[in-house]
Amino acid sequence: MTKEEIENGTADMEIDQRELMNGDRSELNAVPDGFNANYLKVYYGKLFPHADIFKWMSYGNDGKHPGCDESYFGRREFSFTLDNDIYLRFQSFNSASQLENSIKEKCPFKIDIGPVYSVDPAKRHAYAQSGNNVFTPVEKELVFDIDMTDYDDVRYCCSGADVCLKCWTLMTIAIKVIDPALRDDFGFNHILWVYSGRRGVHCWVCDPKARRLTNEQRSSIAEYFRVYKGNENSQKKVSLTSSALHPFLLRSYKVLEEFFEGNLLSNQSLFSTEERYEKILEMIPDESITSELRGKWQDNKKSSISKENINVDRWKHVKKILKSGKQKAPGLGKCVEEIVFSFSYPRLDMEVSKHMNHLLKAPFCIHPKTGRVCVPIDPNRCEEFDPTAVPTLSKLLEEINMGGLGTDDDEWDRTSLGKSIRFFRSSFLQPLLKSCKEEIENSYNAKLQHSKTSLTW
Ligand SMILES: [Zn+2]
Repeated sequence: MTKEEIENGTADMEIDQRELMNGDRSELNAVPDGFNANYLKVYYGKLFPHADIFKWMSYGNDGKHPGCDESYFGRREFSFTLDNDIYLRFQSFNSASQLENSIKEKCPFKIDIGPVYSVDPAKRHAYAQSGNNVFTPVEKELVFDIDMTDYDDVRYCCSGADVCLKCWTLMTIAIKVIDPALRDDFGFNHILWVYSGRRGVHCWVCDPKARRLTNEQRSSIAEYFRVYKGNENSQKKVSLTSSALHPFLLRSYKVLEEFFEGNLLSNQSLFSTEERYEKILEMIPDESITSELRGKWQDNKKSSISKENINVDRWKHVKKILKSGKQKAPGLGKCVEEIVFSFSYPRLDMEVSKHMNHLLKAPFCIHPKTGRVCVPIDPNRCEEFDPTAVPTLSKLLEEINMGGLGTDDDEWDRTSLGKSIRFFRSSFLQPLLKSCKEEIENSYNAKLQHSKTSLTW
């Protein structure tokens, strides 16, 4: 969160307070839009799934099994961003209630999750004085961060912080490309996708072997996904040099092609103006082909082709001429794939994935600018996800007000946040904890077996 974002948040709060005081009783249920500390207090008090976050971050080490690592949760770093840009790093907690009480008391505008360290991060200075460098990160989920601002050169509907359903397709594509690769190519099972609250998605890979990856291994995985090598100055964003596509890229291409042709072409009007189609022609390194296409398109400028068809038709022209095989330069056929990759392949923030000690915003936080909850996204139904329909803080408060004076523990279930929390539990948390407990049980039994064998010796 930037300072400017927090300052704006505070300005909103003052307006909301006035509106609340001036509102007559009939409007009591209508909670004004906005994000402020008072709303957050209610959210953390009644809706935020503290216990679920604790269970997740404990990975089965909740003290019930003799094989548990009781210090595990207490070595995890949480960081809180408070009102007025106060940033509290290296927060740690020894129990679910400590975590919950601290969140309720401090009411953070943002909660970030860091790594599990070798020792309690809150006591790191004491260990530092002992001289041997023992304070070091030892575990962290493998994470991915995909942000719409990295796609500004391939979307025409919005720019910067804005998103709409048209450009959100790019996030849907990213999930559909990365999720199956994490499962099939790397064998990961416990994967959580989360809406960042504004213009992107986060991915948390939580399998034990993912959490224990070294920084070098994380870098290799991030590199595996890197195809986009473009920068502001190069026209060609993707270069597919080898003769055959890697199996992962071949599978990905099916997804990219489907969404590029069925959605992005028309929704982003990729060929509708000279400026736009020139951007694509610049990716074809054959003067005779580009001038042929340019001539064709300039001629039918006056014709009566509908705007939607123009994009589809012009793309057909490109494909036909590049795949015809009559061009002289070798590898020109690959330009078709390169164009599709350039306009649709996921663009990862590599640094976030590469380093174990990179912090990432916790799921179920609320984005201070949009007021939207960072809800999980079902990768199997990600094309149905609509960021503009995600519950906002004020909507949730309104729903609580409508529900009367409920004091039940499951008040969240009567709000539109209910289905997100139920999805988080059933599709992510429960299977994860089941396999964590099995792992703890197995390694405990193996240890017992080992000590028995040692005794017989
Ligand atoms: Zn858009």
